[in-house]
Amino acid sequence: MLYRGCFCETESVSSKMAVEAVRGDRPRAGFNGERHSMPQDRIYFFDTTLRDGEQSPGCSMTHQEKLTLAHSLAGLGVDILEAGFAIASDGDFAAISAIAQEVRGPKVASLARARREDIERAAKAVEKAARPRIHVFLASSDIHLEYKLKITRDEALEQAAKMVALAKTYADDVEFSPEDATRTDPEFLCQFVGAAISAGATTINLPDTVGYATPEDYAGMFRNILAKVPGADHVILSTHCHDDLGLAVANTLAAIRAGARQVECTINGIGERAGNAALEEIAAALKVRTDVYPYECGLNLEKLYPVSQQLAGTISFGAAPNKAVVGANAFAHEAGIHQHGVLSNPLTYEIMTPLSVGVPANRMVLGKHSGRTALRSRLQELGYRLSVEDLDVAYRAFTELADRKKAIYDQDLINLVAHHQRHEDLISRERAPQLRSDRLRTGQLNAG
Ligand code: MN
Repeated sequence: MLYRGCFCETESVSSKMAVEAVRGDRPRAGFNGERHSMPQDRIYFFDTTLRDGEQSPGCSMTHQEKLTLAHSLAGLGVDILEAGFAIASDGDFAAISAIAQEVRGPKVASLARARREDIERAAKAVEKAARPRIHVFLASSDIHLEYKLKITRDEALEQAAKMVALAKTYADDVEFSPEDATRTDPEFLCQFVGAAISAGATTINLPDTVGYATPEDYAGMFRNILAKVPGADHVILSTHCHDDLGLAVANTLAAIRAGARQVECTINGIGERAGNAALEEIAAALKVRTDVYPYECGLNLEKLYPVSQQLAGTISFGAAPNKAVVGANAFAHEAGIHQHGVLSNPLTYEIMTPLSVGVPANRMVLGKHSGRTALRSRLQELGYRLSVEDLDVAYRAFTELADRKKAIYDQDLINLVAHHQRHEDLISRERAPQLRSDRLRTGQLNAG
């Protein structure tokens, strides 16, 4: 089957009207399934770091690690925490139960296949949560139905409806995902989603399970569902994107503009294969581009970097240095022109401040491309104030060192200045060593 452009025909006037309608103020099914008027300018963050993230290579976490991270995710302000896949293992079940019992703030969800034993296990795992959610999924693409599940479309429809109804007997809040939605026949996807909504699903998640969609495809799918499925404007539509083509965040943002109001994502973008849409990137895009995405969310953005660091310290890898928002170089400026600009006014080369996403300070990386301004600024931070002539001498010594050494750390600068102080009386005056010694000992400044 060819999937290319399969949603292109959905850019119709009627679908646009449906999108407008869903953005209106009329009453719709609430977050708990009750009918009330809910704001359409709110994006709900569904974190699946502990489920989709944890099930990927190198990301296993212990019971205690999951619990600790769950508390941090609650502090970050995620709306829904997918704590695991209850039937997958006794360990998963225990971690979900503990999180449901202890962690307050977010809704706590467990994943479940559309099978009785899965749903019963998920229901049991989240029963102590203040606000439990059961997340049921069943594949909808022909390739999954034929080769994986070996059932017909009709059988899948019946199973989806029955299992959502069963989940509904345990929780008001039931999310349903047609797995591999982006490779599902659009007409059948409408029937499938319609059946789940009729059976009581309050959130419909449309996953790009295999990371196949483009932003246009993905937005078109949401518009199609809103235009054609009765009741679709009374549930929350959700995204779940994988980064196989590097499009997970772009697809997520495109779907938001097409009416999605829940985004499934993970810290540092961890997850199956190339990972899930990165929570911190979606959050930063919503914050920086409110002109395009005029929506609220409940996140405390200054917790993004600390949680990213915590996850990196828990699993076997951290964010790549050039990773957006939370990478070590995300706010680093090495080129002299950039450094001069940022020191004069951060907005010259920065679209958001490091502090706004919890990065402690603007971490200039000093290297051979750095200019005098950056060197003087860093030396001042380290407690050294040099005259213009002394700075010239120090700068020459610095560039010699930078030719030999890729990155210059604070300790290198201190050695360099101290060396000249002894031999050439370079240091003019004040030092403020009382502050420095503490910070250097902990290595906080040494990262550059
Ligand atoms: Mn996934």
